[in-house]
Amino acid sequence: MELDLEMSYKQYLLSGCLQLLNLMGYSDSSIECSNKATRAPDTNTTIRVLDTVALALTTRKPGEVFAVALDTRGGLTLVLGKNDDVTADDDRAARDFFKLISDSEATQTCDVLSFLFSRCAANIAERIMKLNQAVNEFSCCLNDFLRTHYFFLPSLEDEFPLSLDYRKSKYGGEQISSVQMLRDLLEGIPDINEGFNLWDLSETPGLLAVYSELVLACQILRRSRILCQLCKSTDPWPRTQAEKLRRCLAMACHYQDGLSELIKHVKGLFPDGVKYRWAGDIEGTGETTVNLGGDYSDTVRQTLGDSLLDDALATLCFKFPWMARKWHKRCSVTTRLHAEIRVLLDLSNPVHGLDHSEQQPIGCSKWSCLCCALWILAYNEEYGTNWLTSGSHGKVYAAWALPGRGKVDEHVLTEMQVRLAHALQHFPTNQRLPDAERSESEDAEEKLSDGAAKVR
Ligand SMILES: [Zn+2]
Repeated sequence: MELDLEMSYKQYLLSGCLQLLNLMGYSDSSIECSNKATRAPDTNTTIRVLDTVALALTTRKPGEVFAVALDTRGGLTLVLGKNDDVTADDDRAARDFFKLISDSEATQTCDVLSFLFSRCAANIAERIMKLNQAVNEFSCCLNDFLRTHYFFLPSLEDEFPLSLDYRKSKYGGEQISSVQMLRDLLEGIPDINEGFNLWDLSETPGLLAVYSELVLACQILRRSRILCQLCKSTDPWPRTQAEKLRRCLAMACHYQDGLSELIKHVKGLFPDGVKYRWAGDIEGTGETTVNLGGDYSDTVRQTLGDSLLDDALATLCFKFPWMARKWHKRCSVTTRLHAEIRVLLDLSNPVHGLDHSEQQPIGCSKWSCLCCALWILAYNEEYGTNWLTSGSHGKVYAAWALPGRGKVDEHVLTEMQVRLAHALQHFPTNQRLPDAERSESEDAEEKLSDGAAKVR
């Protein structure tokens, strides 16, 4: 795609910054959070429903992200966006999914789950594997947590709220202690997961029943008092383990929990069936192929100037001995507009076409990256709008395309240059390990999560 000279140069500068920050393992922990506390109650419900729609369309292909928002002009319509080309398969999936959730006869969570087990199998399998890992890690530390950090209350219902039916069906009239129930849940979840065929979810015998059993066990453990208390601990060690487990439990339940809420609200929003369309083409963006050149010294020079160049290059070379090789491998970057920005720009044509006196939620299949989060904040500031996604993970991707909105783009470029300058002079403590210490699976994971060479 041909860009004008100014946009082309700005995109080149930005992609260089983002590439170096990404390779250094940079993420902004101050922005890494959900914005739940600042959402209006209506926004909170809507964004959870929209997040579920976006998640339902996602197959876990590398770099694939979907976003969705409501167009309230002339009757309610869902506007869908993707950070890559929309395929016939995507459109068919959207049509089938919306038909399923609009159909008053078929709208049961289990019917929709059957659809998701096919469309989102890889995503669901990944969540189950991550849950197993978190449960195992937590179980290994459990005795230490119990010895140093926790006292059980005498009542099982206090320790495990809303678990009466579960206890009746699992234990009958047998008297068990809270610690026993906790151990049973921690051992039981990997046992249930053994029942899944994670390579081919559809080959799992009694898939729906196994998944429902897993979700129930996850919900009981997630609500447990011990997990809530450890997540609030001032000691970072149990808190980190507990937060990881709680996050993985929530992710494992997300499809079922999200669907229940979606099904509950969809009839109110779309009594005559869900209307949707894909976001249209956006003109004047930084979508192109950027050639970053053979080495990263230009990017460092543009960021720090000549006086600090030699020191920064020497330190980079020492701390990240694989940097030159990775930079070379990724020197061609295909930039794409991220899904949430695509939807926002589609609905902002004209800019004040929507009523922005209230929050305008955009649902996403994953949290927004740092550039999207900063760009949306700056856009709101510039145009008096009120867009938001459900949160940001604070990471950066070289393939992030400038959306082509002058001052707002400039703000993100400046922010990234300042962050890179700071990172080059004060190397982050969360730097990645040298190549020799990184496994192939980590590299594969990294490729899946950032689609670095291609999309996101
Ligand atoms: Zn993004």
